[in-house]
Amino acid sequence: MEATLPTNKFGAKVSFEDTATAFAAKTDADLYKSELLFKAIHYNWLVKTGTGFVKFALNAGFPITGLLRSTLFKQFCGGETIDECARTAQVLHKYGVGAILDYSVEGEKNEAAFDQTEQETIATIHKAAQMRDSIPFSVFKTTGLGPMPLLEKVAAKLAQPSPLPWLLSEQAGWDRLRQRVDNICRTAYEQKVRIFIDAEETWIQDAIDALAYEMMEKYNREQAIVYNTYQLYTVAGLGKLRQARTLAVKNGFYLGAKLVRGAYMEKERQRAVEKGYPDPIQPNKKATDDDFNEALRFCIDNLQRIALCAGTHNEDSCYYLAVLMEKYNISPNNQNVYFAQLHGMSDHISYNLAKAGYQVAKYLPYGPIKSVMPYLFRRAEENTSVAGQSSRELVLVSRELARRHKRK
Ligand SMILES: Cc1cc2nc3c(=O)[nH]c(=O)nc-3n(C[C@H](O)[C@H](O)[C@H](O)COP(=O)(O)OP(=O)(O)OC[C@H]3O[C@@H](n4cnc5c(N)ncnc54)[C@H](O)[C@@H]3O)c2cc1C
Repeated sequence: MEATLPTNKFGAKVSFEDTATAFAAKTDADLYKSELLFKAIHYNWLVKTGTGFVKFALNAGFPITGLLRSTLFKQFCGGETIDECARTAQVLHKYGVGAILDYSVEGEKNEAAFDQTEQETIATIHKAAQMRDSIPFSVFKTTGLGPMPLLEKVAAKLAQPSPLPWLLSEQAGWDRLRQRVDNICRTAYEQKVRIFIDAEETWIQDAIDALAYEMMEKYNREQAIVYNTYQLYTVAGLGKLRQARTLAVKNGFYLGAKLVRGAYMEKERQRAVEKGYPDPIQPNKKATDDDFNEALRFCIDNLQRIALCAGTHNEDSCYYLAVLMEKYNISPNNQNVYFAQLHGMSDHISYNLAKAGYQVAKYLPYGPIKSVMPYLFRRAEENTSVAGQSSRELVLVSRELARRHKRK
């Protein structure tokens, strides 16, 4: 078996070249649709104009949800409801890939919506407990559970030696937010379902970190249930991961660590310029890549204390982690080392890793079509052309269609 695998520069015993495995779950019709979609979103101007048109059409009530459902939504989302996602999760499970139900409604601003997100996240945990083999994690974003300005204020207070004025209404809002996070994490603990807390903008991240460690102190005594997320595109990311491990050792809990590069680079840089503080982002891509891979090594080196999830579409980082596991004699099916990708992207990584016996899961974003549009627009933008080249997804889908039909 090993001898048949192509070698790669890391010498990993897994290869991402095999598109037959990557798209085994897809029919020809699925692939033609994906190819068409990636060809369309390949053009930056088309995505920009299309995004504007879709926003306008949805607000004006034009009947375009059917079209969205069969294109962008089908490619990148698991369904509109938990039950629809559960069906998608069963398909993934056939190929050894887990699902992470991600309620992706964004931009909510009132208490009723925050309560609704809390209830929905708790429902995903119960679904994961029912379908343990196919849904290994749940996830939430803290900004879905409380107001962004409040998180910003808490983060600023945590950073300032002299406390900023703090209103009674803000204290009440913070208490409600903490309670929602606690209700979710306690349910996860009781149901023994691991839960990710996503990382967001640096100016609110200290507040999210504080909540994450409070939860880990409570619920990670026997195993890592709550995972915080570390963004290695920040200059401070690697140091924060190391400090978290020190805190975990000192206070006797297990550290759940999801590693990502980070999703808000342009916004971060722009705000730093506008407000006149040093750019929190690494000076270049290589610095991000180096810290990401060093963070992988650090987690593997401390696996007796840390449970790791590598949230990445970067092939080199995935190969590197596979090689590290081998070097440290860690079995591919170790429950404390997960690879994770987003639904509709990098199936060549997910499915090939799963076939080789590694633990893999995919975020399955879901929610009413109109509410998940911001998520879908980001995915479309991510897949526009870079320096005139076709996006990686388009190349992979076309290559598989060519293999199936001997196309040139
Ligand atoms: C399962 C999963 C969960 C995720 N959860 C989160 C989350 O909680 N929070 C979050 O912020 N993101 C999250 N992301 C998104 C992630 O942060 C990345 O934006 C995305 O995965 C692209 O990075 P990559 O590792 O796949 O690799 P690549 O495509 O190799 O790297 C692209 C990334 O490198 C960094 N980068 C690019 N250019 C530069 C530059 N000039 N200087 C410095 N850095 C640069 C940026 O972070 C960019 O997104 C998640 C991704 C996945 C797959």
